[in-house]
Amino acid sequence: MADATYEQIVRWDHAHLWHPFTQMQEWVAESPVVVAAADGNYLIDTEGRRYLDGVSSLWCNVHGHRHPAIDDAIRAQLDRVAHTTLLGLASPPSAELAARLAAIAPDGLNRVFYSDAGATAVEVALKLALQYWRLRGETRPRFVALTEGYHGDTLGAMSVGFSEPFHRFYEPLLPVERVPAPYALEREHGLAPADALARALEAMESTLASARGTIAAVVLEPLMQGAAGMWPQPVSYLAEVRALTRRYDTLLICDEVATGFGRTGRMFACDHTSTSPDLLTVGKGLSGGYLPLAATLASDEIFEVFLGPYEEYTAFFHGHTFTGNALACAAALASLDLFTPAMLAALPAKGETLARALDTHVTPLAHVGEVRQHGTMIGIELYEDATRRTPYPSNARTGHRVIRAARDRGLIVRPLGNVIILMPPLSITDDESVRLVTGVAEAIAEVTDA
Ligand SMILES: *Cc1c(COP(=O)(O)O)cnc(C)c1O
Repeated sequence: MADATYEQIVRWDHAHLWHPFTQMQEWVAESPVVVAAADGNYLIDTEGRRYLDGVSSLWCNVHGHRHPAIDDAIRAQLDRVAHTTLLGLASPPSAELAARLAAIAPDGLNRVFYSDAGATAVEVALKLALQYWRLRGETRPRFVALTEGYHGDTLGAMSVGFSEPFHRFYEPLLPVERVPAPYALEREHGLAPADALARALEAMESTLASARGTIAAVVLEPLMQGAAGMWPQPVSYLAEVRALTRRYDTLLICDEVATGFGRTGRMFACDHTSTSPDLLTVGKGLSGGYLPLAATLASDEIFEVFLGPYEEYTAFFHGHTFTGNALACAAALASLDLFTPAMLAALPAKGETLARALDTHVTPLAHVGEVRQHGTMIGIELYEDATRRTPYPSNARTGHRVIRAARDRGLIVRPLGNVIILMPPLSITDDESVRLVTGVAEAIAEVTDA
């Protein structure tokens, strides 16, 4: 069968596909890049043009595309079997991966419940938390979450997240108390970092104190709130929140779907302060960004509360058809093998290379208000007036125009509003980091000075 032409693919796409997070009226008026292949850190379109994958194919690719070790692991698994169910049956890759995840996860997280998207991993965490308290004889219907948190797009995950443009049609869902993270206070009230940290912890504490006994869990993205537009936290915030959840006797759910697997310079964001949550969600980079795979890790204490004779129905009655898919687990095992001690040790330097390039080329630009970074997670916020922090009107489509200009320079990046997100694969080289940052700087200058 001959490959379809670019024109044919675009006709099919424009006539029948509904793209995620996309205003389709705008989409069909533009010519898309059609990615047909990839090679390491580069995407290759139908015309053979190469683009640096500056957002890791939406924050998930870790070691580059078509990594020989991961490709081989998937092929080898394919020669055995692609998928079998975990309902009533076990499988080698899902069992081995569970053991490997328990070994590298923060202390005490020894149980792995698989699903296939970050959002489903969060649903599982929320349901485990609700059921955990019910099994302990308490009804705790509420969650505490951070302002502008993002946890995925299914109903439960969405209700612990909040973003005005994403969620305005769906409020209200689960009962959720929202508290600001330190950065939200810096941003909204111009507080100095130390004051913002203190105020954010006060807000968390007073919420936990006043709602004591009704909160199933605090759920948050540790260290970096990604979809908010890369809102960083001081490293100590997470450990302080952990202490508060213990003091007020509630659970802590850390959503590391974005931050997990090396993104912040350590394997997990929790590792920066050796913090162990009660539940941890991972996704995106778990399979190296190859296949849809996510997991919810639970502490022994939570797991044990679900044990009992069958007829008491305390089991966790939850599952998805593709839970623990063998190909995806095989990819994940191969990806974890690539996290050698040397590879992990080299990660902080990658973040520093990016930081230096950003300082030199991006921060000085007139319309750049702020550059926020942890490791290889970067947000560049653009303003019409950077000094006064006056935003661009949304109909100016400034972020969108910048990523189009970056595309002309062979770079694929994506905006969140007027925040330009960079999140390259961990396999990015120093030269590629500099090329990514200088190319994005040129694109910003071209669009914002016009
Ligand atoms: C992307 C993301 C999710 C959702 O993951 P999906 O696989 O897109 O469902 C959840 N939490 C965080 C922190 C994320 O960044």
